[in-house]
Amino acid sequence: MKIDLTLLKKYDVPVPRYTSYPTVPFWDDGIDIDQWIQTFREQFSQHNHRDGISVYIHLPFCESLCTYCGCNKKITTNHSVEQEYLDAIIKEWKLYRQLMGQPPIIRELHLGGGTPTFFSPRNLRVLVDAIIKRSIVHPHHEFSVEGHPNNTTQKHLETLYNLGFRRISLGVQDNDPAVQQIINRIQPFENVQQVTRQARQEGFKSVNFDLIYGLPLQTTSSIERTILQCVTLHPDRVAFYSYAHVPWASKGQRLFDETDLPTAALKMQLYLLGKQLFAANGYFDIGMDHFALPSDDLYEAWREDRLHRNFMGYTTHRSGMLLGLGVSSISDTGVGFAQNEKTLHNYYQRINNEQLALTKGYFMTEEDIAFREYILNISCMGFTTLSPGHLPTLCKYTFPELEKLANDKLVEWNEHEVRTTSLGRNFIRNICRAFDLHLLRCEKESQTRLFSKAI
Ligand code: SF4
Repeated sequence: MKIDLTLLKKYDVPVPRYTSYPTVPFWDDGIDIDQWIQTFREQFSQHNHRDGISVYIHLPFCESLCTYCGCNKKITTNHSVEQEYLDAIIKEWKLYRQLMGQPPIIRELHLGGGTPTFFSPRNLRVLVDAIIKRSIVHPHHEFSVEGHPNNTTQKHLETLYNLGFRRISLGVQDNDPAVQQIINRIQPFENVQQVTRQARQEGFKSVNFDLIYGLPLQTTSSIERTILQCVTLHPDRVAFYSYAHVPWASKGQRLFDETDLPTAALKMQLYLLGKQLFAANGYFDIGMDHFALPSDDLYEAWREDRLHRNFMGYTTHRSGMLLGLGVSSISDTGVGFAQNEKTLHNYYQRINNEQLALTKGYFMTEEDIAFREYILNISCMGFTTLSPGHLPTLCKYTFPELEKLANDKLVEWNEHEVRTTSLGRNFIRNICRAFDLHLLRCEKESQTRLFSKAI
């Protein structure tokens, strides 16, 4: 499908990825820990026996700084840090275990970072053993890990496979030497090749590559070379992310010259080229920058309207509860969110005092829960029905936005339902925004303020 560049430019505005709703900027600073504990207990007892829980563990250490990175990470080459961190995660898990009152059924477990493969295979085994000991591992569990192509060893893969991991996501980003130099991530393609081959030999059934467009020095020919090289390895899934330039928040991004960044028009071309190349090589666009081969479970889930979206991105299973462990991790009980302390110092301090390390969060209203469902439906299925009870709110905030989207042929809608068009599938985030009451109210208020100032 040909997408008009003017349309791409029009919708190239900062919009959340909607891994949560309400999105993090609308959460409260601080959190009532007693309320969180009570909500956690109630929601756990409902969700655990029904469909199990998901656990995300953030492992923040990396050996060197990739200058584009916006993750919560700690750069060090000193591996003695592993032990203290492991001890803290295990303590945090025990604090949550005390709140559970029954063995958790682990349906999903994801090790993210930072660089999980910074940790030795032995330490990863100790960590995962501590989580699954005295827990029940769901018969259809999905365990996944983020691996760095430069330090994921055969031993890591063997250890993780034996613990039940079957999915690995490799941070490839870009294969061009000049781009790798400027982003300080020197990563020969042979490393990606080797880890992919070893993971498959070990028995991993899904290998995901993360790629980024919009990095400094990228050109259409460099990104074409990267993608064509990558597809020779047949990754089962590809996440093709847009680089977000936020040097005020991610200081590493100040280390390269802004004039080396692609212009907005070139960035759009990189995206379109990527989409075409993935399609030409048998990948299906399942939404919000994710592509999958038809043989991959994510594609199956998308086809059968079973996709779900949470802080781990798209998943094939909808678990009502996600518990985040480790520095900066986010938990989602289905009716509330909480985020852990963002610095290691504060995280250790809280955990070592036998306290949950929460720093901010949000307890959802009935309206939030309903509008979250609309956003999930749009982002996972491209379709949602609307409840008549929400008509007054929809009329005030959502319908004017849908009208604009419909004028650009991105959605078809009436008072009962909203459906994204095939063109609209390229603008899913912009369509989700039409249901983001927090953002729309905030925009309306500031417009009113500006307007009253002007008169
Ligand atoms: S991109 Fe990944 S490996 Fe690089 S600094 Fe960020 S978290 Fe670490």
